[in-house]
Amino acid sequence: MNPHPDQPPVRRIVLPSGRRVEVLLFDRAEPVPETAPVPPGLHLCTACGSDLVHPVGWEEADPEHWDVLLRCPDCEECTSGTFPEEAIARLDEELDRGSALLVEALRRLSRANFEDDIERFARALHGGFVLPEDF
Ligand SMILES: [Zn+2]
Repeated sequence: MNPHPDQPPVRRIVLPSGRRVEVLLFDRAEPVPETAPVPPGLHLCTACGSDLVHPVGWEEADPEHWDVLLRCPDCEECTSGTFPEEAIARLDEELDRGSALLVEALRRLSRANFEDDIERFARALHGGFVLPEDF
C-alpha cells in the first residue's frame, strides 16, 4: 500500500551495475514498447558468438522492460533493443558469473607472480646478489 496516496508509487530497481534506483510510477496511456526478440542470452554475440557481451547503456522503457545497448569486446558489434526484465536478470547473472571468473583469474595470476618473485629472490640470495647493504 502506498503510504502517500497523493504521490505515485515508488518502485525500487537494481540495475545491472548493482546500483539501486527508485522509480516513480505514473499512470500513462502510452503503448507498451515493442520488444526485440530475446536471444538465448544477451551475453552472447549474434555476430561472432563471443560470450563476453556486456551492457554499455540501459534505461527503463517501462516497469517490465529495459532499453539496453550491448557491446561485444571481441568484434566491437553493438546492438540495442528493448528486453523484458527476465532477460536482463539472466544477463545480470552472466555478468556476475563473469566477474567471479575474473576475480579468480586475478587471484591465480597474483599468486603466480608472487611465487615468481619469491623464486627470483631466493636465487639472488643463494647467488650472493643480495647483500646486507641492499637493505
Ligand atoms: Zn562479437
